[in-house]
Amino acid sequence: MLSNLSVTLNASLAIMLSATYVLWLNIDVPWLPYWTMASLVMAILRARMLARFRAQTITVENSDYILRSFRRGALVTGTLWGVLPLMLSVHTNTMIGGFMIFIIAGVSAGAMIQSTCYAPLAISFVLPAISGAALSLFMNGTATSIIIGGNTILLGFMMVRASRRAEREYWDSQWVRLEATALAKSLKTANLDVTAANEQLSKLANHDVMTGLPNRASFNDNLRRLLASARHAKTDLALIVLDLDNFKIINDTQGHGAGDNVIAEAARRLDALRRSVDVVARLGGDEFAVIVPGPNARAEATRLAGDLIQRLSLPIALGERSANVGASVGIAVFPDDATTAEDLFSSSDIALYEAKAKGRRRAAQFDSRLKEQLELRRRLESDLGNALFQRELDVSFQPQFDLSSRRIVGYEALIRWTHPTLGPISPPEIISASQLTHQSDRLTAYVIEASCDFIERMAALGHDDFSVAINISPVEFLTHSPSELILGCLRRRGIAPWRLEVEITEEAILDARAADTDLRRLEDAGVRIAIDDFGAGHSSLAHIVGLKIDRIKIDRTFVTGLDTNIRHQALVQAILSLSKTLGIEVLAEGIETEAECETLVRLGCRVGQGFLVAPAMVPPVLTKWLTKYIETNISNSDLIARKQSA
Ligand code: GH3
Ligand code: MG
Repeated sequence: MLSNLSVTLNASLAIMLSATYVLWLNIDVPWLPYWTMASLVMAILRARMLARFRAQTITVENSDYILRSFRRGALVTGTLWGVLPLMLSVHTNTMIGGFMIFIIAGVSAGAMIQSTCYAPLAISFVLPAISGAALSLFMNGTATSIIIGGNTILLGFMMVRASRRAEREYWDSQWVRLEATALAKSLKTANLDVTAANEQLSKLANHDVMTGLPNRASFNDNLRRLLASARHAKTDLALIVLDLDNFKIINDTQGHGAGDNVIAEAARRLDALRRSVDVVARLGGDEFAVIVPGPNARAEATRLAGDLIQRLSLPIALGERSANVGASVGIAVFPDDATTAEDLFSSSDIALYEAKAKGRRRAAQFDSRLKEQLELRRRLESDLGNALFQRELDVSFQPQFDLSSRRIVGYEALIRWTHPTLGPISPPEIISASQLTHQSDRLTAYVIEASCDFIERMAALGHDDFSVAINISPVEFLTHSPSELILGCLRRRGIAPWRLEVEITEEAILDARAADTDLRRLEDAGVRIAIDDFGAGHSSLAHIVGLKIDRIKIDRTFVTGLDTNIRHQALVQAILSLSKTLGIEVLAEGIETEAECETLVRLGCRVGQGFLVAPAMVPPVLTKWLTKYIETNISNSDLIARKQSA
């Protein structure tokens, strides 16, 4: 409306001035200058009003006022135009009067056309102007002028009606346009919402909430994609797998919240150290991975691994406390170590396993030897269950003897397994496989049963004055109850509890919480308890005092070459004298020479075991050996006795 109005005002001014000029030429009326002045003043006022409103920001609040002002302006201008023919009718000049009516009708039509969006503006102008013109015609009184006056009124009426309709149609079309715009806008907003929700969903699906790093699923996608690029570009790609060391301790000692903070901080450090092309992810738990693409992938990955280990070994602040974690890293490189994403992952995992096994806080590179070892381990693990079921494992017994008389006083049960294809498997490997496959209870039960079999077999041969020692590893106290297995077997077979001896390592005593109840139950039942590998670990006798220990076994490292090693002699002597005070028997392991045996006797040790007398043997071999041993040993001691009496 504002833009139309400036055209209307200019046109109206031009018509008003030209009409005045025509009137001035043709008739002599004294009031004409006044009318012209009034019309000019109105034109100026309306122009100024227009300029003022144009400079303003039009709002819902001020729009009514603006419209009202324009309406008033139009009304006054229309009235001035209406007054003109009325006054002219007084100075009758038909020609001029007719011209004027033509001009007024034209100006009114123009006003109507120019303000289709707002009918009141046109009506305010048209009504007084047309009414004035019609009135002047009626006042003329002739039939012609009355008819023309009637036509003028009809014209005015049609103008008002057309103006109203034009306004309605204008607004209808505006509403449709506005509604369409609003709809488009709301669709756009809805679309944006959906896009944002989709983005959020995809972020949730691809990212780990705690660290904000990509998760395993998205990492797998990335690895496949980058591997395809590396294959295409014929370049390398390294995969680093990183696992925090002994992280469970943080959870156990400082709570899961602290554990979470450690994981988040580790993630931040990792993310800060990677290059922009490297991709970091949290695979789950305390495990992370980094993809290092590029031609120098191995060198870059090795450098990055070193930096990561160094950064992660720095303490992590947890409120007032701090945590020291450290991390181990496994590295595998495409295409040297693996060609598919899955194989690359398992190769880095194997390397990580090696880094952990080598003592943690270090990086290990994959090599095929590691893979062979791992495959071997996996084979063992998968075959162990069946081997136990088929009774393919052997339990051998190594004699324990009185160092002076060489009389056999006991045996240590040792597990042996000759794998059909892999050959002999060492006891630590068997034990580790049983633990990894959660079968250590089955393995222990197997050894207990075999030991009881052995006791019964020897009893049948008239030997029932010895005990059999069974090894129980510390973790067994955490996973099952060895006392139940032992006491159950003894009860079932009616064997006296002292016939079995449980050998535990020093760690089992240190983790008193787990082992305590079980050991006490065995102790109460009368089962003997021995500490294995004494001196090799970090136990102190203070730990032993709490339990009723029957025997300490001095580790073979102190026995080998004891006759010439003064320091070891001093240590063994110290153990012996302390044990004597505490009433604990001492057994020396790994005696191989007479010299070692004699030294032990000199230091006060009474019992031992080792190749000097016999290795571990399976029962059928052992019984034959024993018959022979007893014969020679008795004849030897007879000889000694005879020599002594002579
Ligand atoms: P290792 O040196 O052999 O890696 O031993 P570790 O103690 O670090 O234990 P491991 O890596 O085998 O297991 C990680 C543990 O992390 C297992 C689980 O109890 C714990 N864990 C897994 N996810 C979370 C987690 O989101 N928050 C916390 N606080 N702990 C977690
Ligand atoms: Mg860990």
